[in-house]
Amino acid sequence: MFRSRQGSIWLFRFAGIDVYLHWMWFVMAVFQVQRRTGYSSLAWSVAEYLSLFVIVLLHEFGHALACRSVGGQANQIVLWLLGGVAYVAPPQRPGAVLWSLAAGPLVNVLLAPLLVGLWVLSGTWGWQETAPDLYRLILHIMAINLVLLCFNLLPIYPLDGGQILRALLWFPLGQARSLVIATVIGFVGLIGFVVLTFALRSPWYALMCAFIFINCGKGLLEGLALLRMAKAPRREGFACPACHAPPPRGSFWTCSKCRKPFDIFETLGFCPNCGVEYSATRCFECGEMAPMSFWMGGPVPPVVK
Ligand SMILES: [Zn+2]
Ligand SMILES: [Zn+2]
Ligand SMILES: [Zn+2]
Repeated sequence: MFRSRQGSIWLFRFAGIDVYLHWMWFVMAVFQVQRRTGYSSLAWSVAEYLSLFVIVLLHEFGHALACRSVGGQANQIVLWLLGGVAYVAPPQRPGAVLWSLAAGPLVNVLLAPLLVGLWVLSGTWGWQETAPDLYRLILHIMAINLVLLCFNLLPIYPLDGGQILRALLWFPLGQARSLVIATVIGFVGLIGFVVLTFALRSPWYALMCAFIFINCGKGLLEGLALLRMAKAPRREGFACPACHAPPPRGSFWTCSKCRKPFDIFETLGFCPNCGVEYSATRCFECGEMAPMSFWMGGPVPPVVK
């Protein structure tokens, strides 16, 4: 079976989660395999890169399965240029978001003693002399796991560490302010990445900078919009069918066709500028989608997941 997703090929499905490989992953593979030296043959370099792939995959499965365990949606993992991305949509509660994010690095924490133990054993078995390539491979895999763990825990949004920080701040500060603060810290961290990019002249770091900049920018705008929304008056007569929160009054929705802001509860699901009709409206509080009739207190069908 061949399925594709925006430049990615479908690899396999496990526990209801589809794993895709983006074409850019191959670009990185060629670049990385050539860089890995010290082995007697290229096959060992390839084995090392495939190990990196397995570790990244386990990390992403950590995110996806944790997200599922708290009732969130997670059914796709894409491996691409900068590693892996698990498309997770945890319920919008700080505890659920925190667990979905922490579970990725937790996989690396669990792998660390196993890999260190294997490396120590291979040393006592004398593999350094009898099987130097295998010994080097184990040493490198151990190091890769630790580097990935430390890198992911940098408190720079949208890296795991930055998102974990955001989830922790969410408890005392709320959804909006925690996102604004985490993304501002992310922008400060970005300065460090820019310095590294110039110091190392690394295209990989340059891409990382762009990735952080775009996501911090998006997150900051979202956080500021959430702040404005939190202060806005509530619209009476409407409530989210899932969490019962009333929607805010104001032009907080952006039309996907004409890109103009509007208040979807004023027009009951239509864009007043171009006339596009929306069949469902997302709750800003809990993230659930529901048709306008349900927001107005109509009958709610059982949730199908
Ligand atoms: Zn992660
Ligand atoms: Zn809701
Ligand atoms: Zn429109």
